[in-house]
Formats: sequence, structure tokens, C-alpha cells
Amino acid sequence: MLGLKTSVIGKRVIYYQEISSTNDVAKSLDVEEGTVIIADRQARGRGRLNREWISPEGGLWLSVVLKPKVEPQDIPKIVFLGAIGVVRMLEELSIPGRIKWPNDVLVNFKKISGILTEKVGEKVILGIGVNVNNDAPENGIAVKDVLNRKVDLVEAFKTLLENLDELYEIYLESPETIVELARELMILNVPVKVIGDGEITGVAEGIDEDGRLILRLDSGEVRKILYGDVSLRFL
Ligand code: ADP
Repeated sequence: MLGLKTSVIGKRVIYYQEISSTNDVAKSLDVEEGTVIIADRQARGRGRLNREWISPEGGLWLSVVLKPKVEPQDIPKIVFLGAIGVVRMLEELSIPGRIKWPNDVLVNFKKISGILTEKVGEKVILGIGVNVNNDAPENGIAVKDVLNRKVDLVEAFKTLLENLDELYEIYLESPETIVELARELMILNVPVKVIGDGEITGVAEGIDEDGRLILRLDSGEVRKILYGDVSLRFL
């Protein structure tokens, strides 16, 4: 019915009108690789560190169940796969999205999409939220705000899955290519504050081959930041 032309992602799609969070359901289900959980609304959508992710009807709220057989250091790169997929989906709507390291997609410096990856056993859950036809929260933005019109949500969903499927194939063959593609789309050479245990400010100069943020401090010292539970703010 969707007529998807994908080889892994979206072989099976499980739809809910409302659920707690697509990531939570994806984590709890014993399903084949590529299964997608999608919901019109999430009652308890989450960002990182249990932050709230606002998910009203009109947005794309989905999780993909992956079971990649890759080296442990390649697992965190899956977050970029999600972000690149969203940027490519936006591109097809003529919207220029950029990646804010490590897990957001911005348009005009406002968050249009957030990615949340979680690992449970052999499963990696790739959770993606995109503001499409819904009202975005303050400081966020939706596709409908950029285009001044609503778009076909099912078409956007299909485009996203087709892009993710293509990127997943690339990732399995060459995880480093995903990092390179993400680097090209990332907002870099801007002053930032990294908030984790403490706060450090500097210039986000790039990402290394493992996807770590290369931060040049005011002192000239270069630090590499792992995308654990740190948040980035533009200054
Ligand atoms: P951060 O970007 O601060 O590191 P996360 O990536 O964990 O945080 O995303 C959660 C944050 O995103 C929330 O604290 C909130 O500020 C913001 N947010 C929540 N829902 C949405 C949404 N639908 N669109 C845009 N931003 C949102």
C-alpha cells in the first residue's frame, strides 16, 4: 500500500494512533531488523537525558529497529545516519537543513528534527522526530512554517525511509562514509558552548573520523568531545 522500494528499512511498519514513545515500543518488541514503529502522537516522547520531546499529531514520530553487525565504535555513527536521512528528506521539499552536532537537524538555526539512538542488546533503535505539519514548540520550526503550507505526511515518511534505507546500506559497508557525509552537512566554525559535566566554550571546528566534535578552546587548545550526554549551544 505504501509501495516502498526499500531493502531493509520499512519491510514492516507498525502504526499506532498514540503510544508512549516509539523508541520505548521499539525497544520492547522482538521484531525483525528494519521494522519501523510510527505513531501519530507520542504521549511521552523523549529527547536525550529524559528531556521531553513534544510530539503532537502532524509530525513524523518514528523509530527504526536495526541490528547492525559492526564494530562497537561504529554504533554511535547511526545517529548521523538519521540526521543525514532527515536532511535529504527536507532537501526533496527544497528545505536546506543542517546538522547540529550530534543529534539535531536545524533550519534557520531552529530545531526541525531530533534523533535519539538507544542500544539494547543487539538492537539499535534509531528514533527520529520531525516537525512537519504540527505546531513546533517555541525555538523549534516545522516544515509547514518554512513552506507556508502543509505537506503530505505519508509522502514525507516514505521519502525518509527510502533515504534511510540507502544510507544504512552505505553505513554497513563503510561507516566512515556516513561520518564524511554528516561532516559536510554540519554547522561548523561557529562559537559554541558544550554543556556536560561542566561547561566549555570554544569554536566547533569539525568532527573527527569517529564523529567526535573537535573543539578549539579560547586558549588555542584542541579538545575532542564524545557525544555521550553533552549538549551543544551556539553562542
Ligand atoms: P539538546 O538539543 O538540548 O541536546 P535533545 O536533543 O535531548 O536536547 O532534545 C530535547 C530538547 O528539544 C527539549 O529539551 C526541547 O528543548 C526541544 N524539543 C522538544 N520537542 C521538540 C520539538 N517537537 N521540536 C523541536 N524541539 C523540541
